[in-house]
Amino acid sequence: METRFHSIRHISERCTGCINCIKHCPTQAIRVRNGQAKIIKELCIDCGECIRVCPTHAMRGMYERMDATEKFKYIVALPSPAIFGQIRNLEDLDYVTTALKRIGFDDVFEVSRAAEIVSEATRKYMHSNSCKYPVISSACPAIVRLIQLKFPDLCDLVLPIKQPMALAAKMARKEMVEKTGLNPEEIGIFYISPCTARVTEIKNPIFGEESGIDGAIGISEIYHQLVAEMEKLDKVEPIANSGLIGVSWAIDGGESAALMSSHYLAADGIENAINVLEEIEDKRFKRLHFVELNACHAGCVGGILNVENPYMAKARTQILRKYLPVSLNHLENDIIPEDMFNTNELKPVSGIKLADSLAESLAIMQKIKDIERTLPGIDCGACGAPSCKAFAEDVATNHAKESDCVFKMRDKVFEYAQKMGIDEKD
Ligand code: SF4
Ligand code: SF4
Repeated sequence: METRFHSIRHISERCTGCINCIKHCPTQAIRVRNGQAKIIKELCIDCGECIRVCPTHAMRGMYERMDATEKFKYIVALPSPAIFGQIRNLEDLDYVTTALKRIGFDDVFEVSRAAEIVSEATRKYMHSNSCKYPVISSACPAIVRLIQLKFPDLCDLVLPIKQPMALAAKMARKEMVEKTGLNPEEIGIFYISPCTARVTEIKNPIFGEESGIDGAIGISEIYHQLVAEMEKLDKVEPIANSGLIGVSWAIDGGESAALMSSHYLAADGIENAINVLEEIEDKRFKRLHFVELNACHAGCVGGILNVENPYMAKARTQILRKYLPVSLNHLENDIIPEDMFNTNELKPVSGIKLADSLAESLAIMQKIKDIERTLPGIDCGACGAPSCKAFAEDVATNHAKESDCVFKMRDKVFEYAQKMGIDEKD
């Protein structure tokens, strides 16, 4: 039984059992039984698709509220670069960073600062002998979890360098300790998140190292207050320290463009990402050096905890970039420090464990095949599973009954009627 934290919650009172979510979940992690959706935790990658498609808002993203910051003496906001594209006519990042201070944070450290350093480190790593092509970006946690679950052979292609959010947390804590003289644990670092996958990443880091972040607050949670404060500002504090490269990480293709190589592929949207991963698995791309995949459309600006239309936010980010210098943050001494690499390797994760022994697992796999052969193969979803194959797995593992399939039920009724001597016309 998996105990990993997930940032998606199902609100049963709102669920109508409409099966919309099971049709859109990229990992087939949802079943609808007895009129209620249920997430199979082992299969969930926290991508947020189910929140997006649920017509009754029965799926919700979880994150901290501002009151979670109260137990700290000094509170630092770590805004995702996606926040800038949420604001209309923004020409100066300091309107956002100053307003963040007005709504209750003592200080602000943009994640885009760390992103610029990660871009530089990635460029160097890609010229090193240890690099294996194509390097797959590790920026989107939902994509990395998808690779672990569905594309285990691609794990060793994922970039082994720490991601901007974790690096920013480390840099921010160090800087704030020096600035305030407080102990590290008296400083609360709060990520301002565009998506559920990053909320999960903070609590359950994929590479197993502490994130160094004390909580995540959704962009939508603070947006209205933030905009209200921005409207009152007559002057701003000089806080922001990011350039075009860091801010571009908010949109699809932004991370790739910073690598100064034309041998890259950037795709957005989970379905497109799955298609690309399948092609990489089949070795159909020969000359690619870097692959950037974002589970959300348009990149992090499309995350479910944002407020704006993803493509509007992307367009705004592109306009904002023209007011920024190229990059303001660099590697010290022009080398990748050892602690910028992940300590642990990325390992595949198994989904649902069929049985304790190999022999039992093989027997269940055979049973799944046998059951699947008897099903209509039209993936109608009426049984509450996303496909006939998933339904066969549920039946073989005693999580569903064959009679949950309407076609099997109809056949049974017909068979019974024949036995009773009842004609179809009757
Ligand atoms: S989309 Fe899923 S969670 Fe939402 S109402 Fe339909 S079955 Fe329930
Ligand atoms: S968050 Fe994504 S993977 Fe998890 S249940 Fe929802 S759609 Fe499926």
